[in-house]
Amino acid sequence: NPATEQVIAQVAEAGVEDVDVAVRSARKALDGEWGHMKASDRGRLLLKLADLIKRDEEELVMLESLDSGKPVSAIRRQDLPAVIDTLVYYAGMADKINGQVIPARADALTYTVREPVGVVGVIIPWNFPLMIGMWKMAPALACGCTLVVKPAEITPLTALKIGELALEAGFPAGVVNVVPGFGKVAGQALVDHPDVDKVTFTGSPTVGRQILQGAAGNLKRVTLELGGKSANIIFPDADIDAAVKAAGSGIFFNTGQVCSAGSRILAHADIYDEVVERLAARAKSMRIGDPLETSTSMGPLVSEVQMNRVLSYIDIGRGEGARVVTGGARATDKGYYVQPTVFAGVEHEMRVSQEEIFGPVATVIKFKDDDDALRIANGTVYSLAAGVWSADIARVHRFARQLKAGTVWINTYGPTDIRLPWGGARDSGFGREHGDMAIENFTEPKVVWINTGR
Ligand code: NAD
Repeated sequence: NPATEQVIAQVAEAGVEDVDVAVRSARKALDGEWGHMKASDRGRLLLKLADLIKRDEEELVMLESLDSGKPVSAIRRQDLPAVIDTLVYYAGMADKINGQVIPARADALTYTVREPVGVVGVIIPWNFPLMIGMWKMAPALACGCTLVVKPAEITPLTALKIGELALEAGFPAGVVNVVPGFGKVAGQALVDHPDVDKVTFTGSPTVGRQILQGAAGNLKRVTLELGGKSANIIFPDADIDAAVKAAGSGIFFNTGQVCSAGSRILAHADIYDEVVERLAARAKSMRIGDPLETSTSMGPLVSEVQMNRVLSYIDIGRGEGARVVTGGARATDKGYYVQPTVFAGVEHEMRVSQEEIFGPVATVIKFKDDDDALRIANGTVYSLAAGVWSADIARVHRFARQLKAGTVWINTYGPTDIRLPWGGARDSGFGREHGDMAIENFTEPKVVWINTGR
């Protein structure tokens, strides 16, 4: 428990052989009852799983909070409803995965069908274990795949609970396998396994690269959702109140451990001081504390390693000459809490404005005009998300077009919806999750060509 530093559970560690057993069980299930099930029955099972998650909602909220340090209020408000929405959405899609009749030739009936890609390795990060896990599991199951799920080693509890609930819902044995274990052992074994057809991964760019290399062995299909260093750009003609409020939650939500966190706040020179001052006030107003208290708005970082990483970036920022306006230190003696921190006087080239910190650290960067803002916003290796605050309709459309990002938010920051494609490019990875794009991730098109003669 990162809030108390106490051990809350002992979890079995999956080794290479366990992963092999899980993959074989997933392969067997693919060829069994599951493979012959009506698509609408797969949808019904997803709905049943949604019902069981709703029934056990409080237990899942507690497990997720104790394991990750997330405030229960945020899990209740965001993660759990998103998990259920995801299941309901893909339940409805299970029997709408259509092929096409494509009249290619006069002497043939030619059509396509979409078949499940097969055994899918699902590798989940620790920042949204339940929600990101379900973003992958629900569409893969809707498509008829079988799964070997590898939760992050520091947050395995909710994935294990979902495994139990999947069995209770009636998914045949072997359809959902959960292998808690370390990335370098269990994760790597899954990636290297010759009988895994696809890996869907969310995590760091470093591990993303390792996954691509491992997947080369049997040419697995891969989807990578990696990091970000997203720009949230504020112009003087924006509603500054709303912009600063959203900029605060954009970087401090989930203690900054969000791939699309608005970690670079770009403020126009005319309002720079005002934005810094108001953002610092918001940082100070965050209620840091026990994640189990409903009034807590910010919990600890997920682990000691992550806390030390964030603290070391704060030192790096100071060393580079950026100014800590508020925060800048550990918040408590016990628990991995770091004060919400605002850096001003940040230059675009500094490491703190180029590298993903994954903690509650806002860097506020000054820009002089539209071109300057675009240059800075697009000037990192990432390409995941961006936000623009302005009342100028031509400007926001130009930015929507020219920002390099998988999602551009205009006069808002951070919302996602399972119906909308999610993902990025460059060091943010490739491929898109969510919506009907996820169906392409988990199906393989097949052409059937029937010679009919003329
Ligand atoms: P991580 O890459 O260290 O770990 C992610 C998962 O990969 C864990 O389950 C881990 O055990 C596993 N893993 C580690 N090494 C592996 C290997 N060699 N082979 C197979 N699996 C391995 O990332 P993290 O620290 O858990 O998560 C933080 C990172 O995730 C950040 O960089 C963040 O930006 C990114 N992230 C991205 C998104 C997105 O949608 N783009 C969402 C959440 C998090």
